[in-house]
Amino acid sequence: MNRVVVITGGSRGIGAATARLAASRGYAVCINYRSNSQAAEALVDEITASGCQAIAVAGDVSIEADVVRLFETAERQLGVIGALVNNAGILERQGRVETIGAERLARIFAVNVTGSFLCAREAVRRMSTKRGGAGGAIVNVSSMAARLGAPNEYVDYAAAKGAIDSFTIGLAKEVADEGIRVNAVRPGIIDTDIHASGGEPGRVERLKDSVPMKRGGRPEEVANAILWLLSDEASYSTGAFIDICGGR
Ligand code: NDP
Repeated sequence: MNRVVVITGGSRGIGAATARLAASRGYAVCINYRSNSQAAEALVDEITASGCQAIAVAGDVSIEADVVRLFETAERQLGVIGALVNNAGILERQGRVETIGAERLARIFAVNVTGSFLCAREAVRRMSTKRGGAGGAIVNVSSMAARLGAPNEYVDYAAAKGAIDSFTIGLAKEVADEGIRVNAVRPGIIDTDIHASGGEPGRVERLKDSVPMKRGGRPEEVANAILWLLSDEASYSTGAFIDICGGR
């Protein structure tokens, strides 16, 4: 497999941990982000200072033209793309179903679902052995919310991640004989900025007692599973899920 990986939402949190680990395992890394160029550029500097190859590309994964440009840039600057981590995601302030309007629903689905779909499409167009590609691996970052439903908090987000689970299964079967594996991870409560930007700083602390292991997860603990699914060690795994949730 070509060791060029595109990581959406790679500038912070789980995506940044994945970028660091991928670089340390010999991947050239394309770090996509939406708007925080400072975090993305700092990560590129950190990775390149350690002798590895990385670039940062701004772009909103929910915008088709941005996604096309992201893949063209990654290919032009790093070479043939062999891996995609569909990691960019958002959640918004917690609330029951009565408080969630069509605009918020559209935003949540645009980033979490449409974004992952468009990026997977660009990856398949390049990787499929039936189209002259060399194969590859895709990992979708879902959520335990897809299984647990996130009642009274984020049922819209849970529904979007449920769509990612279905997409993972369907796409895995669709491209299984084209040299492409498609798998997913389902993180539980991981200590990143997403909780504060979703309107609830301190959420990890609040929920940690509901986790059998009594702690939130670290982004690196998710990155390890993502890198395993990308690797040849997972050569017979497709349409599979790894839950990383401390037993939740
Ligand atoms: P963070 O909020 O820490 O980081 C989000 C990243 O996504 C940033 O790099 C951000 O870029 C980028 N991003 C956001 N919107 C877009 C967009 N429209 N286009 C491109 N990039 C975008 O998130 P986490 O690391 O916590 O989450 C990563 C993934 O893991 C998400 O899919 C999330 O749903 C999932 N997840 C997280 C859990 C957790 O507890 N943390 C639990 C379960 C799943 P910028 O810096 O420019 O804003």
